[in-house]
Amino acid sequence: EFVEFNKFFNRIIDRFEMSKSQNVKFDRYIPDTSYFVEVDTDKLTQVIDNIISNALKYSPDGGNIRFGFTVSENMLKVMVSDDGMGIPKENVTKIFDRFYRVDRARSRAMGGTGLGLAIAKEMIEAHGGKIWAESEEGVGTTIFFTLPYELDEAGDWE
Ligand code: ATP
Ligand code: MG
Repeated sequence: EFVEFNKFFNRIIDRFEMSKSQNVKFDRYIPDTSYFVEVDTDKLTQVIDNIISNALKYSPDGGNIRFGFTVSENMLKVMVSDDGMGIPKENVTKIFDRFYRVDRARSRAMGGTGLGLAIAKEMIEAHGGKIWAESEEGVGTTIFFTLPYELDEAGDWE
């Protein structure tokens, strides 16, 4: 199914922005040009939901979450960036492993199973994209993923 990514992404962010209980501000850097991605929308929703709920889970009171995407020749590069506690350098790639959680004690209190990002990686790679994280302890974390796009919903370039 083809979806207009900018609208799809904004709708998911809206849903979190309306229901969040934390004092966290959302900033969007989302082009309003139409870019279409061919995806299983339920699965992509699940991926983005997990990335945003992680960002909220680890955001400090008064923090910001930045949402954006940039466009290259054939890929959208999506980013969700938080001001949270961050992830130690040696663990940044492991967060995409099944059941991996950075800090067991801390994570147990936060809830969750450690599957969210492993599922995200599977889904994004199945759609021809990549997913990775950049993080600095005490500063914040940015999750990036890429997806191939088309300029119209027939899947043709203009
Ligand atoms: P689940 O998503 O299954 O409910 P989870 O959120 O713990 O559980 P993942 O979403 O796979 O699992 O994340 C794995 C781990 O990566 C988390 O437990 C956390 O330690 C770390 N992590 C993920 N996102 C962030 C973030 N934005 N800031 C800091 N740590 C993060
Ligand atoms: Mg999660």
